[in-house]
Amino acid sequence: MTDSKSIPTTLIPGDGIGPEITESVVEILDAVNAPFAWERHIAGMAAVDAVNNPLPKDTIDSIRKTGLALKGPLTTPVGGGFKSINVTLRQEFGLYANLRPTRTIIPGGRYEDINLVIVRENLEGYYAAMENTIPADGDPKGIALSGGYVSRKECNRIVRFAFDYAVKNNRKKVTLVHKANIIKQMCGMFLEEGRKVAEEYKGRVAVDERIVDACSMQLVTNPWQFDVIVTTNLFGDILSDQAAGLVGGLGLAPGANISDKAAVFEAVHGSAPDIAGKGIANPLALLLAAVMMLRHVGRQDLADRIDSAISSVITSGEVRTGDMGGKASTKDLTAALKQKL
Ligand code: NAD
Repeated sequence: MTDSKSIPTTLIPGDGIGPEITESVVEILDAVNAPFAWERHIAGMAAVDAVNNPLPKDTIDSIRKTGLALKGPLTTPVGGGFKSINVTLRQEFGLYANLRPTRTIIPGGRYEDINLVIVRENLEGYYAAMENTIPADGDPKGIALSGGYVSRKECNRIVRFAFDYAVKNNRKKVTLVHKANIIKQMCGMFLEEGRKVAEEYKGRVAVDERIVDACSMQLVTNPWQFDVIVTTNLFGDILSDQAAGLVGGLGLAPGANISDKAAVFEAVHGSAPDIAGKGIANPLALLLAAVMMLRHVGRQDLADRIDSAISSVITSGEVRTGDMGGKASTKDLTAALKQKL
């Protein structure tokens, strides 16, 4: 047990709908007396406007100190030479594991009782951005090249993270997802290391393998067969959005970016500029990220309380935001959740 407000935590409200959903989440966390002592910092467009830097040093220093952050969505400035802030954060803190759980919260849909977790390698693969153009067919940029890499060390570490997660969270099976039949070196190395690690967990956690295209199809036809999926960066990005689509879309999808140095919790969705400022954004994805953060710091009791308030409000069906087929505002949903805590 931790004392009240005893865990220094960086809070980045973010851009677009970020401040609205952050306010809702902080209100709910306060209502259960969560232990986070917030250090508020800016990033994204808010920081470009204020200090012409999308990821100010103060924000990075705060995360370095706290090792824990809740982050609203950030708008990636287009042009201006700014690098993606999310990618910069991952690199700065070596956030190698991206954990994205998918669970059915809205009952009565096609996909009842889904409860799976995708573990995505977050630093390597095709997102290493080794890109270029070369001339061809009289066009100075006639050919676009994009490469990627994986390291044996990182393949081993991410699969180990997935198996450790399975052990700690009482999950029974890890599925290694790859395309080693075509991308023989990069995916081949991932699969080879994956099999090695799986051998060490034999008898405790079952292992399974899927080629990514088959996995994508099976996520639609029979997602219940999956428990923990571990895969390389690009595949994990795509499959986790697909999985989110099965259970109600991005408004309900949380994620965590984890390393030994820091853990950054966030909603999977972006800053939703189309609905920003209207007070209708769904705060649940960020709230579910905060629930993951509570579990991360060992406060299962508070996490369970918020989880059951979410189930109870959403199951009753009376208070849902537009993306969930209702008419409630962010504030209506926040108030309904607080009543059920
Ligand atoms: P988006 O996720 O912001 O929006 C996609 C659609 O989903 C929109 O119609 C939006 O209204 C809806 N939506 C998203 N979250 C919602 C919520 N909580 N409640 C209700 N509806 C919601 O994706 P986009 O429009 O492609 O990106 C907008 C900006 O966000 C871009 O600058 C992008 O780079 C950035 N982005 C940031 C992150 C992050 O910070 N982790 C992730 C993805 C995109």
